Amino acid sequence: MPPKPKLGQNFLVDDSARHAIADALGDITQRTVIEIGPGHGAITDILAGRAQHLIAIELDHSLAAELTFRFRDRKNVEIIEADVLEADLEALIPAGETADVIGNLPYYITSDILLKLFTAGSAGRVARAVLMMQREVAERVAAAPGVRDYGLLSATAQMNAQVASLFTLPPTAFSPPPDVFSTVLRLEFAPRFTELGVDAAGFDAFLRQCFSQKRKTLRNNLRSAGHTPEALAQAWPHSIPEQARAEGLALEPMAELYRALNSIQKEN
Ligand code: SAM
Repeated sequence: MPPKPKLGQNFLVDDSARHAIADALGDITQRTVIEIGPGHGAITDILAGRAQHLIAIELDHSLAAELTFRFRDRKNVEIIEADVLEADLEALIPAGETADVIGNLPYYITSDILLKLFTAGSAGRVARAVLMMQREVAERVAAAPGVRDYGLLSATAQMNAQVASLFTLPPTAFSPPPDVFSTVLRLEFAPRFTELGVDAAGFDAFLRQCFSQKRKTLRNNLRSAGHTPEALAQAWPHSIPEQARAEGLALEPMAELYRALNSIQKEN
C-alpha cells in the first residue's frame, strides 16, 4: 500500500534514530508502554523485545493488520486498530499502574495528542512520554518564558511536565521525506497545579485568556476576557510589570495573579 500523507505516514528509515528513540524511554522491562502510530513497526520491533507489555495503537487498517500478523506469537504485544484520540488510554493501562508513551507522531494531530497525554499525566496514569514531532512544534513545547517561541502550548506543557529536547532529524530519516525537520522530546509528567495552588481546569482556561492575543499586554487580554479594571488593579502582583505580556512571564507569577483574581471574585 502506498503511504497515506493525510494520516501523516512518514516512516522512519534511519536505523540509529529508531534505536535512539526507543532508548530514550529508558529501562522498560517492567513497564506498560503505549506506542502511538506504530506504522510498519520501525520502533515497535525494538520495544516488543524490551517492554513487559506493549500496546500499539494504529488507525490504518492495513498497517494494523500487518502488525497483528507480525507480532502474533508475541504475548506481550497488543495491536489495537483505533484512532488514538478516541482511545480510552487510561482503560488500557492495568489498574493501579502507570504507563509510558512513545510515538513518531502523526503530525496533523500533535497538539490534540499532547492535550490527551496531559490529562492522563494529571490523572497519574502516564509517567513519561518520548514523542517525535515537527521541529517548530517541539521548540514551542520546550521554550522558556521570554524566548520567541514561548506561548500557550509551552505554558500548558510546562504546567504538566518537565520537557527535555533530545535530538533533531532531517527529512531524509523518513520515507517519504516530510517537508519539515523533526525533533524528539521527552516529557516527564509532573503536574504543578497543587504546588502553585491552582485548580487545573480553571488555570487552563485562565492561560487561554492570558495568551489570547499575542500583540496585547496581559492586562488587555484579561480585560477582553471580562475582568474589570478594578479587579485587575486590586489583584495585580508586584512581581508582574504593568505592561507585561504573558509570553514573558514564568508560571509562578501567572499563578499568583490567578489566585488573587479568584479570591477577589469570591469576596464579591
Ligand atoms: N512509527 C512509525 C515509524 O516511525 O515509522 C510510523 C510513524 S508515522 C509518522 C505516523 C503513524 O500514525 C502512521 O502509521 C499513521 O497511520 C498513524 N496514525 C495517523 N493518525 C492516527 C490516529 N489518529 N491514531 C492512531 N494512529 C494514527
